[in-house]
Amino acid sequence: MGLKIFFNGSFVDKQDARISVFDHGLLYGDGVFEGIRSYNRRVFRPEKHMDRLYEGAEAISLEIPMEKDVMLERVVETIKINQLDNAYVRVVVTRGVGDLGLDPRKCGEPSIFIIADGIKLYPEKLYAEGMPITIAETRRNHPSALDPRVKSLNYLNNIMARIEAIRAGVEEALMLTVDGYVVECTGDNIFAVTGNVLRTPRSELGALKGITQEAVIELAAGMGLSSEYCDMKPGELLDADECFLTGTAAEVIPVVKIDDKVIGSGVPGKITKDLMRAYKELTSKEGLKY
Ligand code: PMP
Repeated sequence: MGLKIFFNGSFVDKQDARISVFDHGLLYGDGVFEGIRSYNRRVFRPEKHMDRLYEGAEAISLEIPMEKDVMLERVVETIKINQLDNAYVRVVVTRGVGDLGLDPRKCGEPSIFIIADGIKLYPEKLYAEGMPITIAETRRNHPSALDPRVKSLNYLNNIMARIEAIRAGVEEALMLTVDGYVVECTGDNIFAVTGNVLRTPRSELGALKGITQEAVIELAAGMGLSSEYCDMKPGELLDADECFLTGTAAEVIPVVKIDDKVIGSGVPGKITKDLMRAYKELTSKEGLKY
């Protein structure tokens, strides 16, 4: 059986899930999305993802024509119909089909689709040995231009930085604000560990409010570590004892090198490894059962 996609109100085969060339999600990146995981038939923190989706939609004046709890039911149905015990789910809401102009009022109903698929992670080796990253020249969108706290379909800023990563031969790129502060990577939040303190950039600088980031801060507190949302220059990150990234898809992944600078001792640090373990345990026992 092929993949079934929830597409504007019903489940269709993958090859029949087609979007109009007049959809403003495609023409202008006008819409919002979410990436959600399930582990062992449990959806991890679904309400957080729904809240972020609906808050993002509101921030771009897009009214989702579906109640939040119904959307969550559709997410679970999409996972179940595809018989996935462990899934990566993509929820997309676009402005809908309009004309060639920008005017969102010309769009009819928003398009809603949900894809549940298997999971593609970074290679296992990178979790075991740590990942090298680069610092991108491309600066993060300024929040007053396009707020990165909105998980919008317009990811070109991130993609430009990711292209720099690919050219540098690494998997991720760290993005800075226009003022040169550390913000986040192209698809993950970033943490620096110094002593018993975790530091991660505050979202107001232009980072997505990561759901994994928040979970890791909770886990760290349970381990007696303190965390702060901060403003940090790259130098402070390069001098940290440990560094790691967090994201729904990546989970917790160690960073051991940033461009030419080795972080700490060049191998995944103890706190990072403890948090990787704790996050695995959390995701295996918490979550909405289906
Ligand atoms: N920053 C960006 C730009 C992202 O796309 C993601 C992935 N959604 C994250 C951070 C991590 O957020 P989360 O832990 O909620 O997946």
